[in-house]
Amino acid sequence: MRHRRYKKPIKFQTLAIITGACVAILMIAYQAFLSTAPAKSSLGYDKFKRMLENNEILSVDIIESQDTFTVETYSGEKYRVINPDYDEFKRDLLERGVDISIRSKSADEAILQVVASIPMTLVAFAIIWFLSKSFGGQAVTLFKVLKPEDIVTFDDVAGMSETKEEVEFAVSQIKNRRKLRELGARPCKGIILEGPPGTGKTLLAKAIAGEAGVPFISTSGADFIEMFAGLGAARVRALWDLALTNAPCVVFIDEIDAVGRRRTAAGDSASQEGNQTLNALLQRMDGLGVGSGIFVVAATNRIEDLDPALLRPGRFDKHLYVGPPKTKKDRDEIINVHIRTKKLDEGFDFDKASKLMFSLTGAEIEQVLNEAVLVSIHDGRDGVIKTIDIDKAVMKLKASGVAIKHSSEADKKIASVHEAGHAMMTLLCGRKVGKVSIMPYSSGVGGMTVEDADSYEDRRFKTKEDLINDIKILLAGRESENLILGSVSVGSSNDIERASILAFNLINNFGMYDDCLVNVMSLSKIGVGSVDYNGILTKMEDILKDCQSQVRKSL
Ligand code: ADP
Ligand code: ZN
Repeated sequence: MRHRRYKKPIKFQTLAIITGACVAILMIAYQAFLSTAPAKSSLGYDKFKRMLENNEILSVDIIESQDTFTVETYSGEKYRVINPDYDEFKRDLLERGVDISIRSKSADEAILQVVASIPMTLVAFAIIWFLSKSFGGQAVTLFKVLKPEDIVTFDDVAGMSETKEEVEFAVSQIKNRRKLRELGARPCKGIILEGPPGTGKTLLAKAIAGEAGVPFISTSGADFIEMFAGLGAARVRALWDLALTNAPCVVFIDEIDAVGRRRTAAGDSASQEGNQTLNALLQRMDGLGVGSGIFVVAATNRIEDLDPALLRPGRFDKHLYVGPPKTKKDRDEIINVHIRTKKLDEGFDFDKASKLMFSLTGAEIEQVLNEAVLVSIHDGRDGVIKTIDIDKAVMKLKASGVAIKHSSEADKKIASVHEAGHAMMTLLCGRKVGKVSIMPYSSGVGGMTVEDADSYEDRRFKTKEDLINDIKILLAGRESENLILGSVSVGSSNDIERASILAFNLINNFGMYDDCLVNVMSLSKIGVGSVDYNGILTKMEDILKDCQSQVRKSL
């Protein structure tokens, strides 16, 4: 594949320096020329008066800013005379029928003045420009252009074959832009990738550029948010200039929600500045013609926050969801992409490693595999990965902290009883347990029970029973402590939070209870101000109590 080198538009700075230098040279030359111009012979005032009386003077050219004036005689000679500067003098001239022209400045002077003001203007301009730059950061370096060694293709993007097929059109559109223009087709100007962080949105955008063999320019919406009025819009223009000089190319705008938030009617300057930036962006999108070769990819994790104007046809026409791997197959594909550069121990169990990485995003999988290499190096195994290294790395990531070596017997007891409850309940619900750990972590995590979800994770529609089982498994840690130790610890706080959210979703979002079909969150969308949550709270309590009593019976 051939990749063009990235071109920078000529910087204003360079332009200013060149212009400044030219002007300075011209001025020096001009002044030198003036001083070498032959001086007109001068005339004493007495002699001038005599010539005037003899009617030899044809005309007089007076320049107010100068203390001499120019005299032309009938014989065609020109003289300089000291300006006597008294009023009757002009009257004398008029009475003699001499032509008088009075100017406030000579042409030379006027030109000189204009020319002299240019460097000052340039200097002032440069100062303002440098100031705005140092406050607002470097506009040009804000936008990153992919280096050839960072180029990726669709082979590097794993576990989303449908999404890759969906963006295939973008690649062919960039490649066939001339044909499109001839056919009068309306191109798709951009797509929005929606999904949680670390799921491969940037990677996919890079791969579009890589497959089409064009430069990839990336920036983040947050870079456009500035407290100086107009700077955001100026950056949009700068981004577009860069894109136009590099076209055909892919422009990637991460966190588009930072600029693309719904425009508001609020009058405060911050929202006005945001609106201006968004308007600038919309204008540029609209200005992209057929065959411009600029394809815009934007990413967000909150598409509902975006201004509807951005999503209109002719702007970001296409929206695609990009999420964590949905099936074991997808996950295995991602693992394969990142494991191919690593050294594996003979006994490495791919399936087990994959199970341990259940529910991780692509970025997390990459991070875990990288961490595993570090663990191996730390253990003196020269970067050769064992399954246990994956286990350690996943635990470190999930517990978001470092393992604590020493813990008290009392803590160990509580953690064992708690995790045993989760594990037992998982089995009683007919599911499999992948791993149970009572390793404490600095983040406060006391243990962990990981489900082996291989057999059912590719099922997309969870039923009411599945979710009720999820709640029971969550509550089982607390109930186990209660049952065996006769008391509960603080270790259940995260379980209780997650169980509550699940119960709320069951009632409110999924409509799984016949007597409770209203989604209270939808009310705010139709302008119902205050919502009574008491009904929902009572229902949630009922569900959690019911699950609790079932857990107690089972354990
Ligand atoms: P996002 O833009 O969605 O936040 P990124 O594209 O920046 O996520 O992903 C970060 C890194 O995670 C990528 O550079 C890649 O190493 C890895 N990654 C994420 N998703 C995938 C995937 N589907 N296939 C392969 N690697 C992935
Ligand atoms: Zn727990």
